[in-house]
Amino acid sequence: MGKPTGFKEIDRKKVPWRLPVVRINDYDEIYTEHKIDHLQEQGARCMDCGVPFCQSGTGCPIDNLIPEWNDLVYNGRWKEAIERLHKTNNFPEFTGRTCPAPCEGSCVLGITNPPVTIKNIENAIVDRAWAEGWIVPEPPETRTGKKVAIVGSGPAGLSAADQLNKAGHSVTVYERASRIGGLLQYGIPNMKLSKAAVQRRVDKMTAEGVTFVTNANVGKEIDPKELINANDALLLACGATKPRDLPIPNRESKGVHFAMEFLTANTKQMVHGDDIGNEFISAEGKDVIVIGGGDTGTDCIATSIRHGCRSLVNFELLPKPPEERAADNPWPEWPRIFRVDYGHEEADAKFGRDPREYQILSKEFLVDDAGNLRGIKTVEVQWTKDEQGQWKMAEVEGSEKDWPAQLILLSMGFLGPEQYVPESLGLETDPRSNFKATHGEFATNIDKVFAAGDCRRGQSLVVWAINEGRGAARSIDIFLQGSSNLPAPGVTLGTSMQVG
Ligand SMILES: Cc1cc2nc3c(=O)[nH]c(=O)nc-3n(C[C@H](O)[C@H](O)[C@H](O)COP(=O)(O)OP(=O)(O)OC[C@H]3O[C@@H](n4cnc5c(N)ncnc54)[C@H](O)[C@@H]3O)c2cc1C
Ligand code: SF4
Repeated sequence: MGKPTGFKEIDRKKVPWRLPVVRINDYDEIYTEHKIDHLQEQGARCMDCGVPFCQSGTGCPIDNLIPEWNDLVYNGRWKEAIERLHKTNNFPEFTGRTCPAPCEGSCVLGITNPPVTIKNIENAIVDRAWAEGWIVPEPPETRTGKKVAIVGSGPAGLSAADQLNKAGHSVTVYERASRIGGLLQYGIPNMKLSKAAVQRRVDKMTAEGVTFVTNANVGKEIDPKELINANDALLLACGATKPRDLPIPNRESKGVHFAMEFLTANTKQMVHGDDIGNEFISAEGKDVIVIGGGDTGTDCIATSIRHGCRSLVNFELLPKPPEERAADNPWPEWPRIFRVDYGHEEADAKFGRDPREYQILSKEFLVDDAGNLRGIKTVEVQWTKDEQGQWKMAEVEGSEKDWPAQLILLSMGFLGPEQYVPESLGLETDPRSNFKATHGEFATNIDKVFAAGDCRRGQSLVVWAINEGRGAARSIDIFLQGSSNLPAPGVTLGTSMQVG
């Protein structure tokens, strides 16, 4: 344990983000530099509880050894801290930047005080390790002669590839997009997770022997059956890429786009400098409405502000969450409370108000004679519980409203994976159209074929994708060799957390 009285003496203090009025002028990461003294002091707040709820159960889905590295950081033993962190997490810089930190929701200190700044400490450990040159390619000493193909290069595919390569198998990752990373590359914007940080890991894995093939659409340009025949195992880590649509009148009008169309094009053009012509969707000078919240909605808000939008509103169908945990949401569950994310902070700085409007139902896109979007008609809704305790939504009479908008971004979640790969293989799917495989086993109904990440569990989080990729790697290793030294990530209780 770091400092026995640390939690009594030291207040929680997060690593600050750059000032909103400054950061909205660029696409650089929102974070400020880590201050070693500050992090060591925050590490001292960890109580090293007998039962560390933060690292399992409802806490960290990859069982990060949180109290151990908090103690190492407090004692200035940063190199050992990264070694502990890498035991459970292949990519701490991805989670340290993007994870909603269920660990902090389960921190025992959080029962009476603000929790330990676990996510900040994780991020600082890995950033320092990269800066000090402690993270270097470590190719496996021996090869097994077994070959594994992975479809999809998001966090599930990448963590599986990293683990299988460590076990000595020869791994090839096929990605249909032009760059590696899945939603780490083309979903989550550079402001939250820099593409240089993603590429740095890809380069390390390449130096360790993993092969990456981009612009390779399996099921369209590459026959998945050929991959099965040419390899000893195939892992599908295709993500949940089917967006939820909003089929109301005038949906086809020019100016309504899925969030991912907007965000992908933005990263290509504004971050990588690709010449993508008409693919780019500009919010400059427009009244923008983002429909749906979550991380995706926040990313659309932050990106629109950087484009120079004229106004910005974010519709939420549900009521505003409470400031504190509700009685039916006790510790150590994930706190379903009102949060201000980076995009909301930036909208407040730019327009003087939080952009979110709650309990709003969209009824009709409004268009001009040429079919261009000019706004949207909405109605307010009320939520009440019926006799069975089920939530019921009802429209509020007379609450119709027309909002001006020349750009509307749909950020209402995802409906599961696309179906062309399972259809071409005869792979079973579950009632939600996800690839059918049990967590912990990850094997599908087809011999040699495994599934992991959002395509198996449905839309989720980066940290869950890493959990699944690591678990699938272990199952594949056992399938190939009869046993495995790769660790099994815990099947934690999990949370109902998802991003929109
Ligand atoms: C905009 C946005 C922001 C988000 N922000 C956060 C956040 O801040 N924190 C967080 O924890 N989570 C966030 N998430 C969720 C998180 O990114 C996902 O849960 C996670 O990336 C899932 O990982 P995955 O590897 O299963 O799939 P993905 O990351 O979706 O990767 C799947 C990859 O497979 C490729 N692919 C699919 N089919 C084929 C095929 N047939 N052939 C070849 N390649 C194929 C796709 O092109 C894609 O690159 C966000 C999601 C979105 C959309
Ligand atoms: S990965 Fe997420 S849940 Fe786990 S320690 Fe890091 S921030 Fe917490």
